[in-house]
Order: sequence, then C-alpha cells, then structure tokens
Amino acid sequence: MSVECIQPWLAHRPRRGATVVDTLVLHASGNDDLQQTVEQLKEKGLSYHYIIDPMGLPHKCVPYSAVAFHAGNSYGPHEATRGTSRQQDAHHNFVEMTSVNEYSIGICLVSPDTGTVTYTQEQIDACVWLIKELKTSVPALKYITTHYLVSPGRVSDPTHLDIVRLAKKAGLEIWMP
Ligand SMILES: [Zn+2]
Repeated sequence: MSVECIQPWLAHRPRRGATVVDTLVLHASGNDDLQQTVEQLKEKGLSYHYIIDPMGLPHKCVPYSAVAFHAGNSYGPHEATRGTSRQQDAHHNFVEMTSVNEYSIGICLVSPDTGTVTYTQEQIDACVWLIKELKTSVPALKYITTHYLVSPGRVSDPTHLDIVRLAKKAGLEIWMP
C-alpha cells in the first residue's frame, strides 16, 4: 500500500521538545469527498495528519513530527494522568482549555458517517495498515481513541466506526474517559 502526500502541508506547528506521541485520534469528515474535506480544512486553518479516502488511499497532510489541528478543546490520557479538571462549560469545552493535539496523531476517514453510509472495507483495511506502519516509526504509540471520546458533547465523529474491532486489529489500547 502507498501513501499520497498533500502539498503544501496543511496547517501545523512544531511539537514541544519532550512530547511523547502516544495517542491516535480517529475522525470522520462528515462528507464523501476528499477534495471538499481538504478545502474545508484550509478555510478553517485545521488539519489531520492523514486523511483516508473511500477508495482506501491514505493522504498524508502533516508530518507526524508536527502538531496538526484536529481535536481542538479535548481531554485525553495525558490530562487524565495529570489530574486536569474534567469540568466542561455550557458549550462542552473543558474549562482548563486542554487539547490532545500536542501528543497525538489525527487520522480522518472521508465518510458522511450517517449510519447508512459509513465506511468502506478498503478504508478500514487502509486505516489498520497505516496504524501498523505508524507503530514502527512512532514506537510509543499506545492509545487509540476518537474525537467524540476526547471532546464529549461537543462533537460526535466518528459516530459509526467500530473502534473496538479496529483497536484489536491495530493492536492499540482504546482510551476513553
Ligand atoms: Zn473530528
């Protein structure tokens, strides 16, 4: 399997010096079109490290050595370990303004994710393949989670992804609050 590169890279910034990248966050695009997904990200200054299209081709958008802007206000394994407050405001933002972006890799599956139109087998296979590739280059990778698990109440993607099955196939531990 191969990976396409989107150039120039989408929005990103350097990771802070000692950050250990150990978490993978899965997203769904909410539409069925790669180009539309990329255009919307560019407009909003947002990004994922990888976008996997419905044909099962991964597109690299940001190097994993950099932070991509995919999860926004969010609470993951590092916040839990630090004992950061889980308090959320009326808009479901964590009041301590935490984000998992610093120590995570974001993968988006292009999919309307409606329940009737979900994911292609090619996409799921490509996602498992990509995660296994990433585990060799990012050996600290340990957790797999979803946008809705790290930003509960604020987002719902990827609603219909079978995270349990995917985690098992990819050999990662599911993180949930
Ligand atoms: Zn998302």
